[in-house]
Amino acid sequence: MKKAIVIGGGISGLSTAWLLRAKAQAAGKELDIILLEKERRVGGKIWSIHEEGYTCEWGPNGFLDSKPQTLELCRAVGVEGNLHRSNDNARKRFIFSGGELHRLPEGGPSFLKSRLISWPGKLRLALEPTPFIAAAPAGVDETLADFGRRRLGKEALDKLIAPMVSGIFAGDPETMSLVSCFPRIAELEREYGGLIRAMIMLAKKKKKDIAEGKVVSSAAGPGGVLTSFREGIQYLSDALSASLGDIVVSGRQVVSVDKGAGGGYRVTCDDGGEHEADLVIAASPAFAVADMLEGLDQGISGVLRQIPYASMTVICFGYERERITHPLDGFGYLIPKKEGRSTLGTLWDSSMFEQRAPEGKVLLRSMMGGACFPEYIKLSDDEVVTRVRRDLQATMGITAEPSFVRVFRHEQAIPQYTVGHGKRLDALDGLLQKHPGLILTGNSYRGIGLNDCVAAAQRASDEALALAG
Ligand SMILES: Cc1cc2nc3c(=O)[nH]c(=O)nc-3n(C[C@H](O)[C@H](O)[C@H](O)COP(=O)(O)OP(=O)(O)OC[C@H]3O[C@@H](n4cnc5c(N)ncnc54)[C@H](O)[C@@H]3O)c2cc1C
Repeated sequence: MKKAIVIGGGISGLSTAWLLRAKAQAAGKELDIILLEKERRVGGKIWSIHEEGYTCEWGPNGFLDSKPQTLELCRAVGVEGNLHRSNDNARKRFIFSGGELHRLPEGGPSFLKSRLISWPGKLRLALEPTPFIAAAPAGVDETLADFGRRRLGKEALDKLIAPMVSGIFAGDPETMSLVSCFPRIAELEREYGGLIRAMIMLAKKKKKDIAEGKVVSSAAGPGGVLTSFREGIQYLSDALSASLGDIVVSGRQVVSVDKGAGGGYRVTCDDGGEHEADLVIAASPAFAVADMLEGLDQGISGVLRQIPYASMTVICFGYERERITHPLDGFGYLIPKKEGRSTLGTLWDSSMFEQRAPEGKVLLRSMMGGACFPEYIKLSDDEVVTRVRRDLQATMGITAEPSFVRVFRHEQAIPQYTVGHGKRLDALDGLLQKHPGLILTGNSYRGIGLNDCVAAAQRASDEALALAG
């Protein structure tokens, strides 16, 4: 019987192992699978903590239902009935600019009325669909900042694109690659010659499809609806792990992957244990995979080490509802870097999902650090709390002391798809040709959202199944 080892028990490793087992069973292939996870717990960045009636998400707080991958996985695993969609509040997003919160405009009329972007900024944006805007430079791996300045103007870059990049990647738009971070946006520009034109054409197409009775995505907006579970998103990783049962071996760090005796691979763990396998699917972060592959292929390790990671601190504050005058009627807000605040933004978690705080209380979750502020990961808890309180006062006028405080740090939170990322992936694809049966998956390569990780797990499990004989 062939043997497959999955390394890493985050959403990528768990879903790869789960899908591989399901596909092997469906194909009538006998495959022995184990998943080795370094920590005692599984879930990786997914970690929902329940304390004093609060549910704090250390990492992701859900996935968007505008892409099918995670929803389909939930259905297959049998937890679809427990899904919990964020309420309508979550559709309202804000940006803090010029000392006040502005609702992020969702359409033309609200955009014109909004004071977030100045009139010169709006006029510059209005040029976007015209021939005055330079086309995408051919063959250039453009930064998000260059793209923003070229297409939308400096103000839109600072107030719209940069906060979005920090909200998703905790990234710096001056270094991040447009085509690697947002391939669809690059594609829309190429296909339609501009973003506004693309939006108009796609809206027309959707209208036509509806008129012709074709199936159209039910998602509320382009971003979809943030979806999780009442218990928090860890419900999904727990369900995957429970379903996998003995396949999951936690508390086992892989230290090396070498050529094995029978033409396959030998996987060695920190306790000295060795496992022979025909297939190795590495679903741990790029820097960890680089260490374990050092003896097998220094070229692969070298490329993997070029994928940088940003750190991030997540801060949960619980308050008595009555001590906060702000309506908290939304998703929360992001803060452009030029505002000079310490936090990247704050999510109103208990407004999106009521059960995240006990009766009469609210839960706010702030983010600090990221690629633009790498030094913040070293701040003490006291300093972090002081800075968050200062920002909450400036943005929402909150002067009350939180009655519940938790600070979580991710030293290597999110991989950064900087310029050159695409070339690095091509190089990895080339180098991996020499190592059939060795597969890389996870958030370091082609998308960091939970949906992207599950999509990558689908591809990895297909590839593994094809090699399983
Ligand atoms: C603060 C934060 C908020 C986020 N919010 C969202 C959100 O709201 N929505 C969304 O879609 N995405 C969000 N993301 C992104 C998303 O959570 C991650 O991209 C995703 O969870 C990564 O999953 P993964 O399995 O690829 O990696 P990880 O979760 O990092 O898992 C990798 C696993 O490999 C293990 N490992 C490492 N080295 C070894 C070794 N040598 N041997 C064995 N095991 C090893 C690790 O312990 C870990 O369990 C967020 C991320 C962060 C940090």
